[in-house]
Amino acid sequence: MGYADLSPSGVRFRKGISMLALASAISPRRRELDFQLFDVLDVEKLLATPHFAEHDRATLDAILDTAYELASDFFAPLAAELDAFEYRLENGSIATPERLKTAVRAYIDAGFMGASFLAEDGGLQLPSTLSSAAGLVFGAANGSANSYAFLTIGAAHLLAAFGNDEQRERWMKPMIEGRFFGTMALSEAQAGSALAEVQTKAVPAGDGTYRLTGNKMWISAAEHDLPENIVNLVLAKLPDAPPGVKGISLFIVPKYLLDERGDPAQRNDVVVTGLNHKLGQRGVVNTVLTFGETGECVGYLVGKPHDGMRQMFHMMNEARIAVGAGAASLSLAAYEYSLQYAKDRPQGRLPSDKNPLSPQVAIVEHPDVRRMLLQQKAIAEGGLALVLYCAHLVDVAAASTDEAERRDAELLVDVLTPVAKTWPSEHGIESTSLAIQVLGGYGYSPEYPVERHFRDQRLNPIHEGTTGIQGLDLLGRKVRMADGAGLKLLLAAIAAELDASRAIPELAEEVARLSEASQLLAEVTRALLQAQIDLGPDRALAEATAYLDAFGTIVVAWRWLVMARRAAGEPADDFYAGKLAACRYFYRYDLRAASATLEHLKTLDDTIFRVTPAML
Ligand SMILES: Cc1cc2nc3c(=O)[nH]c(=O)nc-3n(C[C@H](O)[C@H](O)[C@H](O)COP(=O)(O)OP(=O)(O)OC[C@H]3O[C@@H](n4cnc5c(N)ncnc54)[C@H](O)[C@@H]3O)c2cc1C
Repeated sequence: MGYADLSPSGVRFRKGISMLALASAISPRRRELDFQLFDVLDVEKLLATPHFAEHDRATLDAILDTAYELASDFFAPLAAELDAFEYRLENGSIATPERLKTAVRAYIDAGFMGASFLAEDGGLQLPSTLSSAAGLVFGAANGSANSYAFLTIGAAHLLAAFGNDEQRERWMKPMIEGRFFGTMALSEAQAGSALAEVQTKAVPAGDGTYRLTGNKMWISAAEHDLPENIVNLVLAKLPDAPPGVKGISLFIVPKYLLDERGDPAQRNDVVVTGLNHKLGQRGVVNTVLTFGETGECVGYLVGKPHDGMRQMFHMMNEARIAVGAGAASLSLAAYEYSLQYAKDRPQGRLPSDKNPLSPQVAIVEHPDVRRMLLQQKAIAEGGLALVLYCAHLVDVAAASTDEAERRDAELLVDVLTPVAKTWPSEHGIESTSLAIQVLGGYGYSPEYPVERHFRDQRLNPIHEGTTGIQGLDLLGRKVRMADGAGLKLLLAAIAAELDASRAIPELAEEVARLSEASQLLAEVTRALLQAQIDLGPDRALAEATAYLDAFGTIVVAWRWLVMARRAAGEPADDFYAGKLAACRYFYRYDLRAASATLEHLKTLDDTIFRVTPAML
């Protein structure tokens, strides 16, 4: 009898039944999503703007219903199979499992690929807040399957912003329709964080097109059989490129060139020359991509020459927030699973019960298990609140007719992007690890999904710019940008929430703690910016990652206070009581730790900076 023959409660089952029973809940819970969208962010207010006037609450509800239904019917049941699936490169092609094709087809047919695009481009023009929420449901059910869509949506958004009319018609629209899929091809073996080192070359062919040569490393979804065509968005350098990132241009490099009608015709000279095997996110194929083996790799320049990094940043910002959303969805999935498990698993008795014949308690009765669940809840729901808030800012920027409001929303998104990418990812590792701990030995076994959540989560601090790079982006660039306007806006938004929460006596302690922490953040930021001038950036940015983490915890504490204020004063209800408890916990443990980190940063300690490689 193996592990899987027993349910957590020790009752014998046919293999797999116990897991199916526990895996059936799709996260985040619907009530959680409704709370975030309609109580916290008041998405309905957006529907009053002309930009989103086509939609009403009933439409949004119906779209979420569909997301839950498809996630439950097609995405979740496939997650373990897709994780175990071994992709193979055969004659240059990679076949995907049939059930993935069915799941992706259902997603496309329901209109999710085009959810966030303008109606004039063939999209549904839904608020990003809602399309992101739907994405979270799919991501929690099956992150790998969701990645194929996420990359395509990002590529199509980039062409929506920077492609010319012809490119939008021939490449973007088929992506929105789900006929073509997209990739983002930035990294090379020698150019990961340092994209300035990209060596892929593009030379003009004399007819307005370009010929590319070179190799890309780590490119997700660059070859598979889900769509009719694959649209790679590739960073490469023109012959006259200036050095550094200012010399990078962006090209469309499709798998198939198109005929006059826009249908895939001739195979382009871009081939997968290797597959990368990985720890997690194993369900999405990852490739080594080679351009121009026969000198005939056709590419089309997007926008102006040497403007590729700026354009790609457009996609990367969106992708970075989406990585944070993916991280939050994994934490939510692992939290929900471990919570169900803890309610079902009898083990031991409370210290006060010395009777060995008394019934055992479910492990959720042990305070230490509740601690692990509460920590997960604080991270998962806090991360969710953060990424949905960022998506909401994108909507405000798109819908607002007030120029100042639009600019403020954009500045806030800019300053929050490295936080939204990193905080849910880094803390998601802790969170999914705790889910494993709640399951004990079973959590360490592939028979249960939390070890997959943990492995999948491990990628999130790496791709789309590592945590180290996000820290430098925040402290070296974002908090200084526009004379510190983004940070000022953030601190003002936190101060406004503190004012609103002051009216609620049960939040008095949280108000005091966040008020102190945000003042400390402002003070430490000033000190570190001054240190960049006085001591030089190398020394002042040495602990940018610690700064980013403390900054992120304060931002999440702010979002927890917003949630707690909505929950306070509600009639006795476990959902709201849970919100208040998780907020209280987060402030007493995580926010306290963040404040300690800031106190340390204020001293401009140079312990890390002084260590030389030889000492390690
Ligand atoms: C599963 C997977 C999927 C991916 N998908 C894609 C994709 O679809 N498209 C794509 O283009 N890329 C993709 N990537 C590549 C990914 O974006 C890179 O791995 C990432 O940017 C880091 O680059 P690197 O691996 O070369 O590491 P390096 O850049 O060598 O970094 C190694 C370490 O050094 C640190 N470091 C590097 N430079 C600095 C610095 N200046 N300051 C401080 N610390 C620094 C990093 O933080 C990191 O900890 C994927 C990677 C993986 C693993």
